[in-house]
Parts: sequence; structure tokens; C-alpha cells
Amino acid sequence: MIIIIDAQANQEERATLLAMVEQAAGHRRPVAATCIGENEVIAIDHATLDAQMLEAIRRQPAVAQVLTLNTPYQLVSRHFKASPTRILVGDPRYCEPVTIGGEQATPVIMAGPCAVESREQLLETARAVKEAGATVLRGGAFKPRTSPYQFQGLGLEGLQLLAEAREETGLPIITEVMEPEMVEVVADYADILQIGARNMQNFPLLQAVGRRGRGKPVMLKRGLSATIDEWLLAAEYIVAAGNPQVILCERGVRSFDPQTRNLLDLACVPLLHELTHLPVIVDPSHATGRRELVPTMARAGIAAGAEGLILEVHPDPNSALCDGRQSITPAELRTIVYETRLMVQIMHGADRLSQVA
Ligand code: PEP
Ligand code: MN
Repeated sequence: MIIIIDAQANQEERATLLAMVEQAAGHRRPVAATCIGENEVIAIDHATLDAQMLEAIRRQPAVAQVLTLNTPYQLVSRHFKASPTRILVGDPRYCEPVTIGGEQATPVIMAGPCAVESREQLLETARAVKEAGATVLRGGAFKPRTSPYQFQGLGLEGLQLLAEAREETGLPIITEVMEPEMVEVVADYADILQIGARNMQNFPLLQAVGRRGRGKPVMLKRGLSATIDEWLLAAEYIVAAGNPQVILCERGVRSFDPQTRNLLDLACVPLLHELTHLPVIVDPSHATGRRELVPTMARAGIAAGAEGLILEVHPDPNSALCDGRQSITPAELRTIVYETRLMVQIMHGADRLSQVA
């Protein structure tokens, strides 16, 4: 259940309402009080409230509207907020800001190496992806690797190199945060906090980026075997904790067939647009695991209506310390950017072409 607070309500009326909802919920049921767009809201599982209590809450002067949704997720639901959420990325003092999602969205292209490997590798890639038309630089400083013997990322040094690349190119940066304790440190550098597939249901981490992510947008990757509802509930954790700026990233799910690294679920893109107001972007690199499939699946992602792409790019993919097999070259990225522009033209008409990255 979502209670929308009347913008005219005074402090006392608001406090009375919140206290009443908290009392009704009891100690065992969390109550989320946060802001979504212009609305201040309180979200709670209404199954725990009896009819009399519900009626008393409805009559409170601070209540503008009470919505009872029959989905497990609430604040991320399109039934709660019909207009698509527009996410603002980057501080204009340090980079060229970009918007992701919203009405009339034009796809964002995020690109860069899987992992920050060295100053030379990152700066060379950053310059090349900018030149190719990307508007956000990706790069992992903290890497969640399957084997403890694989390259684990440069850590703090990687964050500093990303900041240097942003300063030189003006590209906002996206990088992964793996632990709740590191959220503030990563948020000091990143313009978008990435939650990796392996951490999609790391609930303390989701709450940490919601509460302590310095207001930075979060890109939540789909878990390796997560259902859409589980994914949306993971997004709900972040929003309920106080951060409404969440981007969903489809990066493929585990399938029975090892020919591709994962199975890219493109139907989830239009489905998510029905279920949620959050923007959705597609990661054809992790979804396929094969660089030769990336350009085609990038086009397919845009055709499915994604608000953007995230792509792994390396100047010399065969020597990459991480995910080289799926990394494309800057020249291939340039073609994808060009094709994205054509796709947008086909889908939305020439008037939007000039706005594409
Ligand atoms: C990545 O983006 O490099 C990454 C580790 O992705 P995922 O969490 O989707 O596997
Ligand atoms: Mn990777």
C-alpha cells in the first residue's frame, strides 16, 4: 500500500500519520517513508492492517491518496507512477551530464573496459569510447570474479583512474560497488553505482546504496537466475531506502546452453516498461559472452525499446585481464553508435535523431 502525503500537510500532521502507520505495522513490519518525484510517500504491506485501522489512516488530514496495488513491489510499479522516470547522471562541475529514461528518451551508450587495468589502458579506452560517441564511461575497480585466482581489480587506485578519465574526457563514470562498507567511498567517485548480477539480492548492499549512496543513481543488474518480480523487488529495496534513481540492466540469465555465456531475455524490456516506470538498459556483452554477437544484440536491445546499452570495449580485447572474449574494439563501438542512431530514426522519426549520443 502506498500513502501519498498531501503537499499542504504541516509537520505535525505528517508526524501523526507516520506514527499511526508505524504503530499499525507493529515492530515486525518495516515502513518506508520516502520521496518519489514530487510526491512524499509512505509504503507498507497492507495485508498487515485491519480494515478499521486502514480507514483511520485514510481519514488522516496528511493523506492525499491511498493506493493499494496487488503486486509485491509498490514504489517501482507503473500503477503507482505512470510517467517514465528520468534519471540525471553526473555533476556539471566535473563532467557532461546525461539523462537516462523519461519521456522522449534517447538511448544512452555506456562503454569502457570490463576492468580498469592500468592508467594507459583506461585513458586510451576512455578517449576512444568518447570519440566513438559513448556518453558514459564504464570500468570496474572492484571486480566480482568467479575464481579467487583471477584479477580482482585495482580497487581504490581504479576509482582514482576513473576520476582522472572523467576529468580528461568529461564522461560521467559508472563503476561497481560490492560491499555495503564501500558505498560511500565508491559514491565519492562514481556518477552511477553499479550493483552486479551476483549482488542483486545482497539486501544490505541494496539498502546501503539506497540510504548512503550520496544520492547517486544506481544501475541494478539482473541476477543470474532472477525472476522479473525478484528483480523489481530488489529495485524496490533501493527506492524504499530513499533512492528513487534506479536503472535496470538486463544482462542475460543462466540457461542450459553453454554456446552463449547467458541467455539475453529481450522480452523483459517491453514487459518491464509495462510493469515499472524505471528505465531499462541492455548489456549485450555479458548477455552473449561473444564479441561477434554484440553488435546484433545491441541493435536488438534498442529495437526492444531499451533506454540504453552498456558495452565492454577494450583497445586490445585479446589481452584484456577480464572478459576479453566479449569485448569489442572502439571501431566496433563506433558502428554500434551509428546503428543506434539509425534505429532511433526508424523507430521514432528523424526529429529525434539529433538528440542521440
Ligand atoms: C560487469 O559489468 O563487468 C559485471 C561483472 O557484470 P555482471 O554483474 O552482469 O556479471
Ligand atoms: Mn565484465
